[in-house]
Amino acid sequence: MVAPRVAFTGRVGVLALQGDFREHIELLGSLGVEAYPVRGPSELERADAVVLPGGESTTMSLLLESSGLLGPLVARLSRGLPALGTCAGMVLLASEVLDGRADQHHLGAIDISVRRNAFGRQRESFEADLEVVGLDRPLHAVFIRAPVVERAGPGVEVLASVQMADGTVRPVVCRQGQVLVTSFHPELVGDARLHAAFLSNIPAGTRPVATGPARARKDHVRAL
Ligand code: GLN
Repeated sequence: MVAPRVAFTGRVGVLALQGDFREHIELLGSLGVEAYPVRGPSELERADAVVLPGGESTTMSLLLESSGLLGPLVARLSRGLPALGTCAGMVLLASEVLDGRADQHHLGAIDISVRRNAFGRQRESFEADLEVVGLDRPLHAVFIRAPVVERAGPGVEVLASVQMADGTVRPVVCRQGQVLVTSFHPELVGDARLHAAFLSNIPAGTRPVATGPARARKDHVRAL
């Protein structure tokens, strides 16, 4: 597959505490973008954009705490650090998590309510060709114990949706400013168009910096 070209010249830090961070780094590399693993605060500090990979959001939440990354990441995000979250990464970036663990952190970077493992046991994993706003042709999407968006705030653009077993249509790709989230794993299919779209949306010369403390929120997590 021919990789699209991107004008972005910054560094992308990929959260590498758990999950499929290697695939993101590889895909970003195929776009000619400098991408590297983030395991601690000093690595995050160097990033001009961040990617939160798929994996297990409850585990990543614990590791964010023990690595000392939680506070710095919330601070950077609240000051506009561009972020791409896929699957568990989407759960982490949400403003509200449904069916989460009571002690699970979420970073509140995008105004969406996300239900974890929303497709239930029968459709735990599946693949679909999705129409995504802004992409020239459908994207092959791999859903693995995927979340869906149950509420998207007024500032959120819905770029793709799927029909659930009960007939309701739920968003699976959303964007708010420079935060882009997907329910599925674009990093697993070797198609870099969503990563390119994420980076193309970042104005040239942006270097968001942290200037003060901020706290992650547990208050909106509902354990059901
Ligand atoms: N169900 C997982 C979670 O809530 C996400 C699964 C995935 O990233 N494939 O963290």
